[in-house]
Amino acid sequence: MEKVIIARFGEVHLKGGNRPWFLKMLRGNLAKRLDGIARVALTDNRFVITGFANADDAATIAKNTFGIISVSVVKRVDVTPEAIMAALDDVRIDGTFKVAVNRANKRFVVRSTEFAATCGGVIMRNNPNVRVDLSNPRHIINIDIREQCAFVYENVLDGVGGLPVGTAGRAVVLLSGGIDSPVAAFLGAKRGLNIDFVHFATPPYTSELALAKVEKLGRIVGEYTGGCRLFVIPFTEISRAIQKNCDHKYMITIMRRFMVRIAERVGLHVRADCIMTGENLAQVASQTIEGIASNNFVATRLPILRPLITFDKSEIVALAKRIGTYEVSIEPHEDCCTVFVPANPVIKPNIRAVEAEEEKLDIDGLVNRANASFAGN
Ligand code: ATP
Ligand code: MG
Repeated sequence: MEKVIIARFGEVHLKGGNRPWFLKMLRGNLAKRLDGIARVALTDNRFVITGFANADDAATIAKNTFGIISVSVVKRVDVTPEAIMAALDDVRIDGTFKVAVNRANKRFVVRSTEFAATCGGVIMRNNPNVRVDLSNPRHIINIDIREQCAFVYENVLDGVGGLPVGTAGRAVVLLSGGIDSPVAAFLGAKRGLNIDFVHFATPPYTSELALAKVEKLGRIVGEYTGGCRLFVIPFTEISRAIQKNCDHKYMITIMRRFMVRIAERVGLHVRADCIMTGENLAQVASQTIEGIASNNFVATRLPILRPLITFDKSEIVALAKRIGTYEVSIEPHEDCCTVFVPANPVIKPNIRAVEAEEEKLDIDGLVNRANASFAGN
C-alpha cells in the first residue's frame, strides 16, 4: 500500500485535437512545480503524483495548478478485495457514511454494490459510532478500481480549475501594489496566460518597502503560475515632467498613458500577446469609460485586457482573500499615483485635450529613457 496523489483535470476544455497538447502543457507545469518534491505521471486520464515526503504540500501545489479541477490524497493498493479491505482498516470516522465504489475494471470479480456493502461492514466493525446513509452522508469513502491498481480515499479537494498556464499566450500585467492588479493577473493566468509583471516605481517618493510589497504580490501570483517575472521601471522622471509641464487635472490620465506605452514596449520585447490591467469601470475617478478609453489609444500593437472591468469591489476583495494577495495588498505603502494625485482630477478626459497636454512633453525621450533601464536589465 502506497500513499499517492491523484490530480484530475477538467474534461471540457481538453477535448478535440488540442487535447494532447493541453495535457502535455499541464503535465509539464505540474512537473516543473513539483520538481524536487514529487514525480508526476499521466495514467488512466488523471495525473498520479508519487515520491513525495509531505503529502499535504504536494497536494497543495497540485490543486493550485491551473487546469487541475480536484485532488485527492489516496492509498494505492493491488486490485484484490483483500488489499482494498486492508486499506480500510485505519479509517476512523463518526456520523453517517457511505462507500462509493467505481468499478472501472470490469475484471474485478465482485460487483460494485455488493463490494460497497462488504467494505461498509469493515468500516462499521472498526467505528462503533457510524451509520450508513446513502443519500446525505457526512463521509464518503471512495474506492476506485482501475486496471493496474485501486485507489482508496475520502477527501476530494477542489482545484483552481482553468486552463494550463502557457496555453493562451503571454500577458504583461501592470502590477501596482493595490488589491486589483494581482487578482487580474490571477484570472488571466487561470485562462492559460503566462504572466510577466511590470511595475512603475517612483523613488524617492515611493520606498523600498513599497517595492518589496509589489515583489511579494508577484511571488504570490507566481505560486499559481510556476513563477512570474517582474520588471521594475523607473517612473520618477516621467511623473516629474508631467507635474512640471502639464495641467494637473490630467496628471493621472497622462501617467497611465505613459505606463501603457512602456508596458507595450516591454510586452513586445518579451513577446507578449497582450497587456493587462486591474482597471475596473467607475471604481475611481480615473476609471470612467473615458479615462479607460484614453489608455487604449496609446497601445497600438497589443490589446489591453481588463479581467476585472465589471466586478464589484467586494467580489475583487473576496477573490484577493481567497488567492492570498489581500493581506499584502492592504499593507500601507504609498503608490506613485497616490503621491502625485492631483486635487481635482478630470473625470471624463477629452482625448484631444489630453493629447494637447502631452504635446508639452518629449514623449519618445521619456519613454525611451524609462525603457532603456529595462532593456539594460
Ligand atoms: P489596484 O488595486 O490594482 O492598484 P486601483 O483601484 O488602485 O487598482 P489604479 O491605481 O487607478 O487602480 O490603477 C489602475 C490600474 O493601473 C492598476 O490596476 C494597475 O494595473 C495599473 N497601475 C497603477 N499604478 C501602477 C504602477 N505603479 N505600476 C504598474 N501598474 C500600475
Ligand atoms: Mg493602485
